Amino acid sequence: MIPPSRRIAIIGAGPAGLMAAEVLAAAGLHVDVYDAMPSPGRKFLLAGVGGMNITHSEPLEPLLDRYGADGRAALEAAIRAFDPDTLRAWIHGLGIETFVGSSGKVFPRDMKAAPLLRAWLARLKAAGVTLHVRHRWLGWDAAGALRFATPDGEIAITTDATLLALGGGSWKKLGSDGAWQGLLAARGVDVAPLAPANCGFDCGWSEFFIDKFAGSPLKNVAASVNDGPMRNGECVVSASGIEGNLVYAFARPLREGIAREGKATLTLDLLPAYPYEKVLREVGAPRGAKSLSSFLQSKLNLGGVKLGLLRELLSKEAMNDPTQLAKAIKALPIPVLAPRPLDEAISSAGGVRFAALDDNWMLGALPGVFCAGEMLDWEAPTGGYLLTACFATGRAAAQGLLRYLGN
Ligand SMILES: Cc1cc2nc3c(=O)[nH]c(=O)nc-3n(C[C@H](O)[C@H](O)[C@H](O)COP(=O)(O)OP(=O)(O)OC[C@H]3O[C@@H](n4cnc5c(N)ncnc54)[C@H](O)[C@@H]3O)c2cc1C
Repeated sequence: MIPPSRRIAIIGAGPAGLMAAEVLAAAGLHVDVYDAMPSPGRKFLLAGVGGMNITHSEPLEPLLDRYGADGRAALEAAIRAFDPDTLRAWIHGLGIETFVGSSGKVFPRDMKAAPLLRAWLARLKAAGVTLHVRHRWLGWDAAGALRFATPDGEIAITTDATLLALGGGSWKKLGSDGAWQGLLAARGVDVAPLAPANCGFDCGWSEFFIDKFAGSPLKNVAASVNDGPMRNGECVVSASGIEGNLVYAFARPLREGIAREGKATLTLDLLPAYPYEKVLREVGAPRGAKSLSSFLQSKLNLGGVKLGLLRELLSKEAMNDPTQLAKAIKALPIPVLAPRPLDEAISSAGGVRFAALDDNWMLGALPGVFCAGEMLDWEAPTGGYLLTACFATGRAAAQGLLRYLGN
């Protein structure tokens, strides 16, 4: 039994930190949660604005593969211990129903994060968790106490154990600014620099194309990178390039390709419902007096931004050559020049490397300090995988902290 007098600080009141607080409070400990912002869970609330996708209903094996081989190796035990079914049961326990959307994604019944967060905070309060907002963690003082900037000036707090759940580095205005990277690196913690994940990319469009098509959705398309399998979905042409769920799914190989070679290619199939032979047959049919755009519209229902993309990327000669045009319709290489800035990304890659943690999720360089959530070095596509791992690692790190104190 761990004496309840032990002082535990959790820094970061996002889903990972709050989940850790729940586990520690349930073990009978008094927990203080500190956050820099005036209220907790701001990114979690934003995630609920466009429809909160809290986990995914696919079987556990493919779900674990979404984290990549390295991410899976590091996260598997934690996710198996708090898997999507258990997570859903936990949400139901807060009085919030969930449903599975047509894509297999799991949402709270009303798609929002606010009712869930409200119910959760009330339960944490009842369990004795104390939340300190407007407390920005600044690192440690010479005596090893945690330093916080508060509205009443700087304070120092001594703890028996500290759990960091400081998030990644995107959407700084919501609190997770990645400033912890320098604080931990200065203490000898191995941190992979934060990089945008689930992000858009710059493509260097012409002014003409931007004027005409920025903001246009590309619906019913498929994409691939590096000759990998095609994936159906949607994306959006932006003023700087291309973004949206289908692009986010390929953010990692695109980002890594750009880092390696200075550029990368996203291959788009503009008509995934039609085989190449059919497309070739249709574009090779006699056009008569029709313009190319009304011809493609009538033969293949291809127009708007899809036609705009072809015109932007193909020469006039290729546009008028049925074989080249059909090939481009089925596999249009989009040159991708750079990821959009980290602050615009849905999530961050990089962070505290797993090699810096022991089996209890404690930093080898800083005994008594544990880490959880997006600040760890893993990434995953959108689809509920991000929150699933944040909840699971919050629990796992809290359990590691309990084992540490118990010893
Ligand atoms: C627009 C958008 C939509 C999203 N939609 C989804 C979705 O539908 N499904 C999904 O799975 N994921 C989604 N995500 C991602 C998900 O919200 C994050 O992965 C998740 O919130 C990370 O949880 P966390 O607890 O690790 O960190 P955060 O939620 O970022 O929380 C970290 C906390 O630490 C605090 N903090 C940071 N530094 C300090 C400091 N020095 N001192 C004190 N406090 C500090 C911050 O204020 C913050 O409250 C979305 C993200 C965005 C931006």
